[in-house]
Amino acid sequence: MNRIARWLILCLLSSPVLAASPDGVVAVSQPAAAAAGARILAQGGNAIDAAAAVQFALNVVEPQSSGIGGGGFMLVHLAKTGETFFVDSRERAPAAASAGMFAPDGLPMEFQKASTSGLAVGVPGTLRGIDTALTRWGTMKLAATLAPAIELAEHGFRVNRFLAVDIANDDGRTQLQPETAATFRPGGVPLAEGDWLVQPDLAKTLKLIASKGPDAFYRGPIARAIVQAQQRARSELGEAGRGRMTLADLAQYRVAIRPPLIGHYRGWTLAGMPPPSSGGLTTLEILKLLEHFPLGDAAQGYGFGSPKTLHVMIEAMRLAFADRAVWIGDDEAAPVPQRALLNPEYLAARAALIETDRRMDTPQAGDPTPWDASAVRPKPSRTREESLHTTHFAIVDRWGNMVSYTTTIEYTWGSGITVPGYGFLLNNELTDFNFLPSADAADGNPGANDVAPYKRPRSSMAPMLLLKNGQAVAAYGSPGGATIINSVLNVTLNLIDHGMTMQQAIDAPRLSVTQATGKVSCEGGQAFMQPHFSIATQDALREMGHAGLGDAGTDGCQDAIGSVQAVVIDPATGAHRGAADRRREGTVIRVGQ
Ligand code: GLU
Repeated sequence: MNRIARWLILCLLSSPVLAASPDGVVAVSQPAAAAAGARILAQGGNAIDAAAAVQFALNVVEPQSSGIGGGGFMLVHLAKTGETFFVDSRERAPAAASAGMFAPDGLPMEFQKASTSGLAVGVPGTLRGIDTALTRWGTMKLAATLAPAIELAEHGFRVNRFLAVDIANDDGRTQLQPETAATFRPGGVPLAEGDWLVQPDLAKTLKLIASKGPDAFYRGPIARAIVQAQQRARSELGEAGRGRMTLADLAQYRVAIRPPLIGHYRGWTLAGMPPPSSGGLTTLEILKLLEHFPLGDAAQGYGFGSPKTLHVMIEAMRLAFADRAVWIGDDEAAPVPQRALLNPEYLAARAALIETDRRMDTPQAGDPTPWDASAVRPKPSRTREESLHTTHFAIVDRWGNMVSYTTTIEYTWGSGITVPGYGFLLNNELTDFNFLPSADAADGNPGANDVAPYKRPRSSMAPMLLLKNGQAVAAYGSPGGATIINSVLNVTLNLIDHGMTMQQAIDAPRLSVTQATGKVSCEGGQAFMQPHFSIATQDALREMGHAGLGDAGTDGCQDAIGSVQAVVIDPATGAHRGAADRRREGTVIRVGQ
């Protein structure tokens, strides 16, 4: 039994889903990756060191969701100074990318074909992001944080249910390229729960990075293999699907350290991810719209899960997602009117569109330009249903430093391309851009989310920090494409309006709408999702005109939305707690003295 496995058993025996500690806590979607983070905390590492170890371990044990072939946003909160930063390691378009590359004949490529081609692969940022965070705020060497992942890759681990399910339901992605199939479908047979998975190529790669540093990846042999893989991978698009990334793109990759987007909700403060993610801005916009309604007040017909509460949530989501589709992209390439979208007068006008007893017609994006003279009005761009994967974890260390990290290779299995000989998957993040360019010089449309060289595609990822009276009290986030925003929103409302604990807030059923047209998705299929949205409540929503819930008298709330991991610092006692999501194999480990 290897060290990670021993750790895991020890921790699982000693730890319920919810754990309290004056010391460090990790909350991760996968137990072996949680154990990797706990081991680093036990060795005296801080939250940033542990986050590095968790990410590398996730690359091994939850490879379908994130890894060094992808990108992400790491929120870092420093206890000593009270500062919060975001490490933006979002993938970037290569220099040779062009606005029309996903629509070479003027028609958008089919998503499945585009997203499994080399063309979809953005320049990966995860390793540079981790190295940057460790250099600034960590206490350990990169190599030490890689050690648990190297053991897991070299000696292997048991495939859990979620990995097995994702291999079985892979949308064809583990079958397209021979290297990916050889790892996850050896001899043509998909790995099943309980199978033992050893990844020698990945172990070799992680060891190379441990001994030579990130330049082995961005400038050395791994860089050459990445470039070849995305240029030569078999693609149903033929030549049009050939990747455009060069060695220069990898060598030039830079992370950005961003200040948080700050918002306030009913006396609490939130620090969220700014563009290129829509995560922080759209979550804050929905909260500010909902602040116009007394969501916590059951006496007025609100309260958790009442038809009135769910109705105004749906309407606020529809309004904010209409704005998101038009206004948000990579702020460095086309300025986003961030302050205007959160201007109280603008929001009051938007909130006035919500009627409490009737569904509004499909809302258009608002016009925040009167509150931001420099804003130009882009046209709505085509949006697609975004994928439901990725992963999120949260860590607090004994000093009270916190990390909340959403990390991805975009779709589950990313592009499906494993770098030959190196054992890791490449992302398909560039398909988060508009497929059809929307820029129009004639009317000043900047094409907020059109492809451009070096640009970052718009994201939904929303690692969040919640503060009360200037003190950080919780860090959380979720995977789930555009539904990320709504998972983070549901949890925030549950904490603030409905007075739930973090674990209750995570367990409670969620509701999500990601398009202005307003198809409602809601949860209830699993016993722990309490309190349930009753059929009578769903019927009341149907009567108001809401779509997506199925027939009257039936239970239309059967979805699973997101996977929230969180850490909490109790403001009264200073105790550290973690909470994890049973929608995957969420695991909390406390590291006590
Ligand atoms: N590409 C997605 C985004 O950045 C990743 C998140 C997800 O699909 O869960 O929003």
